[in-house]
Amino acid sequence: MRKNSTGNRVMVMALSGMMMAGGIAACNLPVQAASYNYGRALSESIMFYEFQKSGKLPSTQRNNWRGDSGLKDGADHNVDLTGGWYDAGDMVKFNLPMSYSAAMLAWSYIDGKSYYRKSGQDKYILDEIKWVNDYLMKCHTGDNEFYYQVGSGSLDHASWTAAEVMQMDRPSYKITMDNPGSAVTAEAAASLASCALAYKDTDSAYAAKCLAHAKSLVTFSEKMKSDAGYQKQAGGYYTSSSFYDDISWANMWIYLATGDKSYLKAAENYSSGWGTENQSSDISYKWTQCWDDVHYGAELLMAENDSSAAGKKYKTAIENNLDYWTTGKDGAKVKYTPKGLAWLDQWGSLRYAAAEAFLASEYADWNSADQDLAKTCEKFAKSQADYILGSSGRSYLIGYDSTSPTQPHHRTAHGGWENNCAGAPEKSRHLLVGAMVGGPGSNDDYSDVRTDYVSNEVADDYNAGCVALMGKMYQDYGGTIDSNLNADETVGEELYLEDGINAQDKTNASSFIEVKAVVYNHTAWPARVTDKLSYRYFVDISDALKAGYKASDFKVTSNYTQD
Ligand code: CA
Repeated sequence: MRKNSTGNRVMVMALSGMMMAGGIAACNLPVQAASYNYGRALSESIMFYEFQKSGKLPSTQRNNWRGDSGLKDGADHNVDLTGGWYDAGDMVKFNLPMSYSAAMLAWSYIDGKSYYRKSGQDKYILDEIKWVNDYLMKCHTGDNEFYYQVGSGSLDHASWTAAEVMQMDRPSYKITMDNPGSAVTAEAAASLASCALAYKDTDSAYAAKCLAHAKSLVTFSEKMKSDAGYQKQAGGYYTSSSFYDDISWANMWIYLATGDKSYLKAAENYSSGWGTENQSSDISYKWTQCWDDVHYGAELLMAENDSSAAGKKYKTAIENNLDYWTTGKDGAKVKYTPKGLAWLDQWGSLRYAAAEAFLASEYADWNSADQDLAKTCEKFAKSQADYILGSSGRSYLIGYDSTSPTQPHHRTAHGGWENNCAGAPEKSRHLLVGAMVGGPGSNDDYSDVRTDYVSNEVADDYNAGCVALMGKMYQDYGGTIDSNLNADETVGEELYLEDGINAQDKTNASSFIEVKAVVYNHTAWPARVTDKLSYRYFVDISDALKAGYKASDFKVTSNYTQD
């Protein structure tokens, strides 16, 4: 009957109409576990990335509500940029946080192969790592050319529809020598090199391909030494503060993948560009590993892998950072909430705690760690993991238990049709299993409200630290894994009509009945742009036949169709 995208409704006034009813979507929440189940948290937090996938989705996906989307990405430049992950609750593909997240997942896997295999989660995390790196290789269209973003922040954020039915233009943007972006190219190099290391044993050809791209990208990044071009589109969303950290991080991963010491040397050389604390020569220690500053991860890897005198500098640097987050450094310490979350910042407070807790756990597992600090780190890591899972009285991991959030700031999970975050339906139609939300304010204050994007957005980079942390917790404390974990849902009400009699006159031979019918597209399993919708309207004309009329005496007309 008409083309219709989700979010719109169609009104047809004609001699027709029919009502259809559907069920209501239901999501089953597990009963709260007696103690924290790190196995569940690990497997669910990996699953989150399945909901973030852009492009043609694999048949192996474990849910029935995500569909293909972004299939024309890159078409504006005649390149195939399909794939990758959407960034958060929106649908821009920002390659800086995406690459950061994939590198963190790879680090988690490389460091924890034994527990990934034991838990059966190796195939899922490896699939996600590959998904991103396949996309990053598509973005790397020449030695000195790299697409760093698909979708415009302003165009994308003006919309509130599911990924599968988005209608806005999705321009793609590239880095060249004339439009430089060293952080994003180096971050992609780090992702590709860590991916190469993750795949080295199982698919050496793929690993070699990733590594070749990584080397080319880091060379490109070092030639540019500028983020001026990148900031034009990504600035304001993921503004880059510095690229020195990214270049060190990338070189470090290439060193680990190749053993070629020139990369270790380069990683250390670029550390001269890392920030220092005010009025001090100490390498900055008052933040943590995140998409904008990966020097924390780099210095830990450098400490672990450089046993020379030069490596000591990085051991001191990471220990300063771990002190700051735990017992304090020179009288200064990160803020803690009353219920025990190490609280660095309002925006996505949990992601910082999760990332730092992973670093702490990683440090504690290092055989050259300071033993007292290692013990402190173990306690700290567990306390932060437990905070995420429920020690404050509620969980912040969606799907984990009955206290978990259900209303994240995520368009596709909302499944709305009004192009409005605050619009219908009030409750999200899908359960975004495994997403860790932004988190509480500094007084453990939090409300599970979709419009509160500061505390209730979810993002690729938020979950990266969470996965890595939960992997460590599973290694240390165990947990159970549901090998049949899936996010399949009962399909709710999708396509239906409302109708009613608009006007009628039955008094004479030219009598009529006019029916108004509205066709709704509320599809969400997955959301679909629909066309050729039809419905039937049945009229009992037996009285007319008895009175001597024939079927041909009836006329069917449409006097108004919205489309
Ligand atoms: Ca950076």
